[in-house]
Amino acid sequence: METPTPVKPNAQLVQSEIECVNTPIQFPNGQLKHPVRKIETPKALPNVRCLVRARIPTVQGTEIFLHLYKNDQDTKEHLAIVFGNNIRSSSLDAVQEGETEMDRMIRGAYVGKLYPGRTTSTADFKVQQTETEDSDAPYLVRIHSECYTGETAWSARCDCGEQLNEAARLISNEGNGVIVYLRQEGRGIGLAEKLKAYNLQDLGNDTVEANLLLQHPADSRSYGIATSILVDLGLHDIRLLTNNPDKITSIEGPNDEVHVVERVSMIPKAWKGEKGVKSKELGDYLRTKITKMGHLLDVPDKL
Ligand SMILES: [Zn+2]
Repeated sequence: METPTPVKPNAQLVQSEIECVNTPIQFPNGQLKHPVRKIETPKALPNVRCLVRARIPTVQGTEIFLHLYKNDQDTKEHLAIVFGNNIRSSSLDAVQEGETEMDRMIRGAYVGKLYPGRTTSTADFKVQQTETEDSDAPYLVRIHSECYTGETAWSARCDCGEQLNEAARLISNEGNGVIVYLRQEGRGIGLAEKLKAYNLQDLGNDTVEANLLLQHPADSRSYGIATSILVDLGLHDIRLLTNNPDKITSIEGPNDEVHVVERVSMIPKAWKGEKGVKSKELGDYLRTKITKMGHLLDVPDKL
């Protein structure tokens, strides 16, 4: 029986991407990697505004403050998941013309905690703001892109759900920090296209080839909104949880609005001998991210 040959990307349609894939770049540690996208830094950051914030008690016992943002670049509801009491949104706290104290409390622009009968949004003797204990280190930040399949539909094709949980665990251990949750499903191509890409992967292509076959860039994400959200939250120096070198460069913004003082790796739990997502598909996906997208991860010898 004939072995089926995987369909290869249409070289004409995606020539620039392919050139990019094939041109290795050298990282500071001397390693040669193959990027799949050119880093495009926008000249100016998008404008963002926090519309509403609410306290969410979580199943782990940690309380988080969910901040919902609007922006002038797209119509999506991007989020900031804020841990601890020390990080405030300046656009949320800004006084809006004609608003009442009740309006401010309803949109989350209050200090401390809400309680039945509270009438003022500002700090009073009953709601003294207890600052979360701080270390000297800049806050830990994760920029996370939405992944319906990995976070909600139990998919083991990727480790997004595990990364989100792990980021939350690490940040809540420290007390303060932020997960910026961007609505850019499937590395920015949307859920429908991502599901097509999964079928192409089952037909023998890797995650990058599948995107290229669908005439999408290997990675369509952008991080300008995330940078603007960090600026709004008053975060300049951050420690970034990522394996993606593109993300480090992009998040710093066109005028160094944010500065990554340290990169903190996200090593898959199964690679550290812990209980974590494990599948053939995940192994292939991570290897492609390392070899074709320049992700800074070392595959353990025993895999
Ligand atoms: Zn995922």
